[in-house]
Amino acid sequence: MIPSRYNVILNDEPHPGEALIFNTLHGALFVLEPDYRQSLERLATRAELFPADHQRLAEMAGEGFVAKSAEAERDQVIHHLERAAHGHPEILAAKVLTTMACNLDCVYCFEAQMDRAPRLGPEDAARVVARLIARAGETGAAGIAVDFYGGEPLLNPEAILIVAGGLEDWRRENGRQFSFSLTTNGTLLTRAMVERLLPLGLSQVRVSLDGAAPVHDARRPFRGRTGSSHAVIMANLAEVVDLVRVTPIVTCSASDPGVFAGLLDDLAARALLHRLASVQPSLEQRRLDGQGRACGDGACALDAESAHFFLEMQAMLVERGVRPRTDLLSATNCALCSESGPWIFAPDGAIHKCPLIMDQDHLRVGRLESQTLEPGYFRLIASEPWRRCLDSGCPYLPLCGPGLGCRVEALRTTGDILGQVCARQFQEAYLPGAMRLEYRIQELFGE
Ligand code: SF4
Ligand code: SF4
Repeated sequence: MIPSRYNVILNDEPHPGEALIFNTLHGALFVLEPDYRQSLERLATRAELFPADHQRLAEMAGEGFVAKSAEAERDQVIHHLERAAHGHPEILAAKVLTTMACNLDCVYCFEAQMDRAPRLGPEDAARVVARLIARAGETGAAGIAVDFYGGEPLLNPEAILIVAGGLEDWRRENGRQFSFSLTTNGTLLTRAMVERLLPLGLSQVRVSLDGAAPVHDARRPFRGRTGSSHAVIMANLAEVVDLVRVTPIVTCSASDPGVFAGLLDDLAARALLHRLASVQPSLEQRRLDGQGRACGDGACALDAESAHFFLEMQAMLVERGVRPRTDLLSATNCALCSESGPWIFAPDGAIHKCPLIMDQDHLRVGRLESQTLEPGYFRLIASEPWRRCLDSGCPYLPLCGPGLGCRVEALRTTGDILGQVCARQFQEAYLPGAMRLEYRIQELFGE
């Protein structure tokens, strides 16, 4: 037996004399009592083990804090990352862009330079349904979950009705599962629209909201700069928040944590905060051209400043009694390097995997009208960047995931989508705070 190389221990937490222990491979987070700590240290230093040590170590082995041998644990991490890269989950996830058009003109929009004309027509919407049903069959999925976004997805509700309607029929006729979400700017999210979509499987809505009125309206103005988009969104939220799970997504700049706090206080003053499913902070990230944002959850950040800022925002949520939307200790699963990474169906018929590189045709999955997948898709899946770090002794490998962090960050910094990037600086800054906060969340809200 050996202590797992994927243990991360935080001394004097949550109380002096105790320690928090987290295993990056198995995802277990526990308080390490002093006698358990001593047993683990005796094992690490090959000191004599007493019967009580054996019992405690067996308990810790059950949670992955103790491994049979270095070789056995190496096999486990290989299995874990191969499954993350090549396995298929029970629910097939996909994203459908109904249109590239938008009625807002956000200052940081990474789609601003793209062609806004494409709109998913009825024929292509029906093709999306057929393609998803075929893929669910190929991967053995028990269900399908779709997120509609854009542009502004509600500018083309017909496409949502065709795709969701087709998949809802498939669910009913085949005893499968289907649900969908919307990622919307919220300006067209009326009660009537939500009531129309609920019977087709609408389960949750993510609404972009970048602050209280002055901040939001400066960052997310209506095209033509007429009226307050914030006022329209707030009126809509008040109408729909009791019908469907709503999570505002707040894209913040790392230089101003007061914006996130201001929004939470504004939502509380309107009696909305505790009727929401959660609030999701999302850091504004650099895209290839230096603008735009990454795919969300802070997972693409690689620097210490972003780590601290992201944790600060999550702590603000917890202080106000709101549970963060995501597990703070989950791994990065870059869609580009994972077979199950959601396909993104664009309105021009292209199929992609990463929202930030939809203009790079050689990196797309394929096209709707063809069953053939592109060579670039296979090259990314087969590249397995994680193997570079397998024997590095780095405890963060399972958190960095099969793509070793964000491949767009690699492209931006090295010029090669498969180039070497390291998330160590981020993990070292992020993990201690995330362990503390996740423990606090479990105390406050339960497992
Ligand atoms: S490269 Fe991967 S992690 Fe980075 S933004 Fe794209 S999908 Fe997300
Ligand atoms: S990329 Fe860096 S942090 Fe991630 S596993 Fe490799 S060495 Fe560790």
